[in-house]
Amino acid sequence: MKLLIRGHHLLCLKGFQGYGYDEAFTENMTEINNLRKLPETTVTLTDSPDDICKACPNLKNDLCVDRTHNERIVKMDGEVLKKFDYEKEYESVELFEKVDSIFNTMERVSEICFNCLWHEKCLFYQKLQNNR
Ligand code: SF4
Repeated sequence: MKLLIRGHHLLCLKGFQGYGYDEAFTENMTEINNLRKLPETTVTLTDSPDDICKACPNLKNDLCVDRTHNERIVKMDGEVLKKFDYEKEYESVELFEKVDSIFNTMERVSEICFNCLWHEKCLFYQKLQNNR
């Protein structure tokens, strides 16, 4: 299975515990979160709508909400993507191990997660917060 994942969603997937914008979104995110753990799954990275966005009610004309909000999201993606190789097709398990080793302190995610509405529901963010 090949997945297309936008930069900041690497962190969202690590923190996902079954919450989402609506039923279709949550169902799709759950499926992708299961697929990304399989050894045969590969991931290509992007700063555009991905396999998670495609089931999201916030995606309008290929933008996240609107132009202004989308710019903020693309910036978040960029903060993650600068640690990875855009061109590469990653083995998913290896990629998410890298995510754990790179984004392992609150300081390292501060530019990415600080404005996110899902802080209280995100296992990844809460784990870093508890390790402070
Ligand atoms: S459209 Fe926006 S809110 Fe929806 S999944 Fe994509 S980045 Fe997240």
